[in-house]
Amino acid sequence: MRSLNDRNRAEGQPSENSGLANADQRSLLRLIFLATGITLGFFCVLQALEGRYLLATFELAATALLLWASGRITVARNVTLWVYVYLLPLFCFLIYILSMPGASVTAFVWVYLVPMVSYLLLGRKAGFVLAAPFITVATGSYLLRYGIPEGPSGWIDLGNAVLCGLLVIVFMHLYEVRRAGAQRALQDMAETDALTGVANRGYFQSSLERSVNAANRSQLPFVLVILDVDLFKEVNDRWGHDAGDAALQHICRCLLGRLRETDVIGRLGGEEFGILLANTDRDAAMPLVEDLRESIASTCLSHEHINIALSATFGLAQWPVDGESPSMLYRSADRRLYQGKARGRNQLVSRDEA
Ligand code: GH3
Ligand code: MG
Ligand code: MG
Repeated sequence: MRSLNDRNRAEGQPSENSGLANADQRSLLRLIFLATGITLGFFCVLQALEGRYLLATFELAATALLLWASGRITVARNVTLWVYVYLLPLFCFLIYILSMPGASVTAFVWVYLVPMVSYLLLGRKAGFVLAAPFITVATGSYLLRYGIPEGPSGWIDLGNAVLCGLLVIVFMHLYEVRRAGAQRALQDMAETDALTGVANRGYFQSSLERSVNAANRSQLPFVLVILDVDLFKEVNDRWGHDAGDAALQHICRCLLGRLRETDVIGRLGGEEFGILLANTDRDAAMPLVEDLRESIASTCLSHEHINIALSATFGLAQWPVDGESPSMLYRSADRRLYQGKARGRNQLVSRDEA
């Protein structure tokens, strides 16, 4: 069965390759801005004491900018853009420092930070793409400056530097793969209904709120459908709770088989489900929902060699004519669902009874 894991990720949910989740990314960036700002401030004083006033002025400006950015990052819109705007000049500056004639050999230890911050802030794919060229240039710059080692002790020094660098990259890669996997698993658990694999009530509710916000901006209508399985108590009473559970999974299979990737389906509780049909109005949605109703009513659940007939009643409401807020829209769909129950079940009600 296609589950929430495979659907609905287009709604601004972090993907497994995007590094830390947005809030963590912001607080880590804030910390990094503060730390590099303060470090650069310290270096600025040292450069001034050495008489390198141009460099000191540049570092002072960078310090001021970083301290300002550490305050702004909590409210910034596109955090990933900020990451690139920070990392690219930082890495270029590092390469510049390393290529200066008077650069100390110990300055090369900063290169180890390149894969670490790239992976943490951008995830393993974008992190690797950003870090790899800088590490290559830094390694080339080291070899150009110090040449190929001649004696065994030179090779030991180079071996230490290269091995340590490689281990940092491998560990960061493994850590990021595991961290992203664990984050995704946790997120799925928090958003998915364990029995059916569709969205749970909380995730569906937030999707409904996001749909209303998006529709307010685009002014494109969308449709909310609520459906409730008919006489479901009888299924449990007659065939047992396992058959009831299998029926709920069967119904979700019927729904998922016919909905688009952009539609959201969630279990609102018990045997009640919600469906969000994006960029659709009532007239366009009705044949699809009729099709869903027909599909549930016409395909029996085969459970332990018993064929169990199922049906569901559907209530449909369109934004904004049936409700502008999530709760008003929900109330309209729910009211129509119960009108359908009163009228005999196994039907779609898309307008209030006269
Ligand atoms: P109606 O057509 O009016 O909706 O009748 P109904 O029998 O479907 O409605 P009712 O609310 O009386 O019964 C719902 C039943 O759904 C009662 C409850 O035991 C069952 N149910 C709720 N959650 C689950 C579940 O996770 N698994 C199973 N097997 N049954 C569940
Ligand atoms: Mg029911
Ligand atoms: Mg019910």
